[in-house]
Amino acid sequence: MTLRWRLALVHLALAIIVTGGVSLRLGGGLGEVVADPLLVLLVLVGSGISTAVVLCSGRSALGEMGDALRREREDPADHFAISLPDFTELERPLTDLVAKYRDQVSRLNSEKSRLEVIIESITEGILVTGRDGRIALANTALERLFNLDISTVGRPTAEVIRQASIQEAISTSLAQGTGRALEVEVAGSLRHLDMHVAPIRQGEECVGVVSVFYDITRLRQLERMRRDFVANVSHELRTPLTAIKGYAETLADGALDDREMAGRFVAIISSHADRLNRLLDDLLDLSRLESDQLQVDKAPCNLRNLVEICSTSVAAASAQKNIVIRSDVGADIEVSCDPKLIEQALVNLLDNAIKYTPEGGDVRVFTRVDSSRLWLDIADTGMGIPSEDLGRVFERFYRVDKGRSRAMGGTGLGLAIVRHVVEAHGERVLVHSTLGEGTTFSLSFTCV
Ligand code: ADP
Repeated sequence: MTLRWRLALVHLALAIIVTGGVSLRLGGGLGEVVADPLLVLLVLVGSGISTAVVLCSGRSALGEMGDALRREREDPADHFAISLPDFTELERPLTDLVAKYRDQVSRLNSEKSRLEVIIESITEGILVTGRDGRIALANTALERLFNLDISTVGRPTAEVIRQASIQEAISTSLAQGTGRALEVEVAGSLRHLDMHVAPIRQGEECVGVVSVFYDITRLRQLERMRRDFVANVSHELRTPLTAIKGYAETLADGALDDREMAGRFVAIISSHADRLNRLLDDLLDLSRLESDQLQVDKAPCNLRNLVEICSTSVAAASAQKNIVIRSDVGADIEVSCDPKLIEQALVNLLDNAIKYTPEGGDVRVFTRVDSSRLWLDIADTGMGIPSEDLGRVFERFYRVDKGRSRAMGGTGLGLAIVRHVVEAHGERVLVHSTLGEGTTFSLSFTCV
């Protein structure tokens, strides 16, 4: 390149820089990207060449090159070619620069698509609010968390998410450029969210806010269940312990000398100790059933045999109340189940049937087929369960009549154990009852 050309290029570059520089902008959904010095250089070189052409070769070459650069800008896919009869040695470096520029644009585009995919696949709700308080981005998870079925981008955040605490967190972060975390309850639903707000800065300025929402509803539910459980267990333990302590103190205070009274008190203490034992056994069973490590060893089992084994287990209790257990189960019905677990569930159901049926009542165990499933029904002629309680009897410690259940030695955990056993088998348990007439529990089985 001659001295004259170099001077022309330097001259043009200085002219452009002095008159305000070059700012190329590439549009994009996630924002705008200012081109790097490579692009500025491209313009400088191109402009330098144009000037040189003006200086040396007249306006025709400049026009041709201008057309080519315009075509490149309008349609980058078009083949870029400039014919410079007098400057062929510049064609290669210029074409290389354009190739680099194209490469950069395509890299930015694929980066942008990747970001969009990542944001959409995140399970936490993401909300980007611009400095004007309008939504710049909201992912699908956010729309799901807030049940939004409208398009959100471009609308004011306060109009889309009508929740004062969320709005306050975003506007404070925008105004002060600070981040924070808070817990919010979605209005009109039972959803609990953990919200993290962080400002987006450009230099010293806060140009927007990113809010991330984590759904912690399940966590809060579990915490509440744990609290209720601890309270229930403490209450269940306290009742027999108070009785044991009370009778022991009475004995110590002199009742020991009265042999008859002492015998009665010792028997009461023993029955409360038995109750504590049952409670602990049930709690351990339940915790084993609820643990993820529960192993269900399914094997082909004869259903009639299973029912007979369980009836024998409760024979003493049924004889005491003069209740006969009638079983009508086909001798050849083979089902797939873990016999130990199913026995535990069946004994609990038979035990309840006896407990909540008056003397001389009736308990029947029989099979039926319904909706192509085999069901085993345990039906009693007892007191029945009020319809409003039917949906809750499988909950831990739920009792229709607390006093009666305790008086009969119930722990309030029997049906919770039944439900866990059945669900661990992938089967179902149903209950039907008519107050004052009786109750039927039905277990589904899979035949082999
Ligand atoms: P419990 O140890 O109190 O019997 P369960 O979990 O076995 O606890 O049963 C929960 C409640 O359901 C009982 O307290 C009782 O009120 C009711 N219940 C269960 N089985 C029967 C039944 N066969 N007839 C009437 N009520 C029943």
